[in-house]
Amino acid sequence: MITVSNLKKSYGDFDVIKNISTTINKGEIITIIGPSGTGKSTFLRCLNLLERPTSGIVEFEGKNLMDKKTNINEIRKKMGMVFQNFNLFAHMSILDNLCVGQTKLLGISRAEAEKTSFELLKMVGLGEKANAYPDELSGGQKQRVAIARCLSMKPDIMLFDEPTSALDPTMVGEVTSVIKRLAQSGMTMVIVTHEMNFAKNVSTRIIYMDEGGIYEEGPPELIFENPEREKTRAFIKRIKTFFYKITSGNFDFIELTNELGNFCSANALSKSNIDKAQLITEELSVVLIPRDDLRSVSFNFPEDQSNFILTVVYGGENRDVTQKPQSDKLSKSIVIGIASEISHSYSDNENQLIVKW
Ligand code: ADP
Ligand code: MG
Repeated sequence: MITVSNLKKSYGDFDVIKNISTTINKGEIITIIGPSGTGKSTFLRCLNLLERPTSGIVEFEGKNLMDKKTNINEIRKKMGMVFQNFNLFAHMSILDNLCVGQTKLLGISRAEAEKTSFELLKMVGLGEKANAYPDELSGGQKQRVAIARCLSMKPDIMLFDEPTSALDPTMVGEVTSVIKRLAQSGMTMVIVTHEMNFAKNVSTRIIYMDEGGIYEEGPPELIFENPEREKTRAFIKRIKTFFYKITSGNFDFIELTNELGNFCSANALSKSNIDKAQLITEELSVVLIPRDDLRSVSFNFPEDQSNFILTVVYGGENRDVTQKPQSDKLSKSIVIGIASEISHSYSDNENQLIVKW
């Protein structure tokens, strides 16, 4: 779908991108990771010529974008881009935000555009917000609208530049789950993100950018579990993320709590925080959530250990297992007692429970 050859981008005499050559195939889900300032956004913007490369060639579906004869506006319609800050039209209703591109750029009738818009809003869970204005929505909702608006142009590829970075942590899940669903539908995507669990789950290929280019790339297992080069290793090690995937109700919960404990110890957490993480994990995965519904447990904290976030994903019906009145009062009160905040969301038949302290 896209071929990049010897791409270079400089600002004055500062070479942001020294040399990138790569191919993006239809159906690939590529996540770009790397330290800030390494040119991830610049690379993404060169793909649809929001930035003009200093030299090199970008080809999209066989057309050379650098060729003056290529109609860049036609091509941009096929490459949707979602930004960190949503970029919705503030003075337009949500419905108008979705219709305007379709009617003005694709020449679709208003009635047809509205029909498509309602379908897309429903798909991102915002069917009831068609007449609201961007100001009335939360960050997570705005970003879902931005994604729907992008889809309204029927793109062949979607580019995401840190789509969850401007969001409150409780809203990250609602946006990543929409992107995950797009991935499952076969949409070709390139995503710049710091959400490593998400990257691990959703991507077919990870590109680690550093030193002005693609420093290392490969399937997620290779980059996250076994990176070959020094800087990739150092970057992966800095991320304090524990992730445990559960594939059947017969999973080994002793291994789960053990590995979690090892992870905490390796990262020098205090005894009390290790106990809390293990206790919450145990109450949720052994008592409160039916075994067969469990999908994954992840645990994150920032380098300064100012807060801790334990996330459990489980299937089944829409339910916050810490809320619904039923038995297991003790387990619930243990979790609620430790947490400073609990949030629950449900989409795509998946519950996401986030416990923070
Ligand atoms: P990343 O997305 O990986 O954080 P960027 O692509 O945003 O990195 O930026 C890479 C480098 O290029 C940064 O040092 C940034 O300051 C510089 N840069 C980005 N855009 C411009 C610009 N328009 N003019 C000058 N320097 C820029
Ligand atoms: Mg950036």
